[in-house]
Amino acid sequence: MPDALAYFRGKIVPLSDARVSVTTHALHYGTAVFEGIRGNWNEGHKKMYVFRMREHYERFIQGCRIMMLDIPYGVDELCQITIELLQSCGYREDLYIRPLAYKSEERVANLKLHELASDFTLIVVPFGAYIETDGAINCCTSSWRRIDDTIIPPRVKISGHYVNSILAKTEAVLAGFDEAIMLTQNGDVSEGTGENLFMVTNGVLYSPLVGDNNLTGITRDSAMTLARNELGLEVVERAIRRSELYLADEVFLTGTAAHVTPVGTLDSRDIGNGGIGPITREIRDMYLDAIRGDSEKYLNWCTEVPLE
Ligand code: PMP
Repeated sequence: MPDALAYFRGKIVPLSDARVSVTTHALHYGTAVFEGIRGNWNEGHKKMYVFRMREHYERFIQGCRIMMLDIPYGVDELCQITIELLQSCGYREDLYIRPLAYKSEERVANLKLHELASDFTLIVVPFGAYIETDGAINCCTSSWRRIDDTIIPPRVKISGHYVNSILAKTEAVLAGFDEAIMLTQNGDVSEGTGENLFMVTNGVLYSPLVGDNNLTGITRDSAMTLARNELGLEVVERAIRRSELYLADEVFLTGTAAHVTPVGTLDSRDIGNGGIGPITREIRDMYLDAIRGDSEKYLNWCTEVPLE
């Protein structure tokens, strides 16, 4: 079993040594930004591929700018630290890679970002399926509205704003659903609690505008690219109303953790025939090949980690 390691305070240490004080600002206020990146083990190639690492770190740096988190690394250094940590751990299985920039100041009663010191840490853990299901999932419309850009910017992964997703996910699962779909303050469709959303109607692929309080999803971008380039589909970003989802031919969710997940029912109404639709299946299969380095054409989305 590989050692559990972390990058912490500038060096690679045992995960058990990567600890912070209870007075750490981010613990109290969620003043942190993180990323969720997958490392995918290809058993046939005996290789580890990290999916779209640069794009994840570009979004991470955007989040740091919004939250005034000064960390001494750019995208290149963050990619390099990630590769070093993966090499030191030596995992040969699917992984979740979690960088975190946080307000590390051990000072609680201060709400001024510009006065607070920042730090960076990186952990990596083995990670299989996020949503345990063989088929399409059952979703509900959340009673929690998606936070608005005027409240906490949802386009990047700010730790504090995940309270919104967590309230919605918890409500959905306790009510017997797999996932929640959140609406904007206007009642337009926004996204899942950890996934972007797509709808297929009459052969056209639709997704809500990023401005409708979505995360700028990297899986979303990958699905759009595959749909346009490989299936020749028209892809339209526009506001979507809740009832359009009920009447759609297919609905699916995308995310680093969830991959491409078909939605079978929404609010106890079947979407299409209630199973995985044909376009969802094609996009899902192409995506799963791409993330594992099995797609020649999209190999540039993968960073191979040289392991001993
Ligand atoms: N929306 C939210 C709220 C998320 O947490 C995630 C997961 N990062 C996504 C969408 C999907 O983004 P990505 O495809 O970049 O993982």
